[in-house]
Amino acid sequence: MAGEIGGSSALCEVCQQVHRGLARVLGSSAPDDWLAVTPGERLEAELTPDICILPHQGSTRHFIRGHIQLPIIAPEPDVFVWSVWVEVDESSMSAIAQTWSDPNRAASPPLTGRLATELPYEQPTRGLQITIYTRDPGMTPLLMISSQSRHALAQEQRDGIELHRVAEFVALLHR
Ligand SMILES: [Zn+2]
Repeated sequence: MAGEIGGSSALCEVCQQVHRGLARVLGSSAPDDWLAVTPGERLEAELTPDICILPHQGSTRHFIRGHIQLPIIAPEPDVFVWSVWVEVDESSMSAIAQTWSDPNRAASPPLTGRLATELPYEQPTRGLQITIYTRDPGMTPLLMISSQSRHALAQEQRDGIELHRVAEFVALLHR
């Protein structure tokens, strides 16, 4: 998956500008709560590009990174990705750890967790219920928001977005 969305040389119907070279993947390199722990707790913590173990107030929290894919439906079919963190329970984390290098890990049953990254939407995204689908080794797990959810992020995952929306994401994140 290339780092940029090719876009279109046509003028956007929404803003009358040309959208080219927009980032395909946006998101966060650590769970939001990584910043909330004390420096002492962080010394005990572990953060890799894929997992985060965070001691907090006497217990241990577990996070994995995943991709929420939003289909781009116009002007050209494509895909945009939110790279985000999901909090899972300890048994899910050990299931993930046990199958991490398994060539057949994509056949593992899906897991559930809660979104642990705030994204630029009107309604909070943290706490959204997530289903986690492990993919082949080397591929970031795919995340699905419940199809029952009325959250705008769930609707965008279900119905897709226009390329203009990716330009909005970039602007919102750099505000
Ligand atoms: Zn536009």
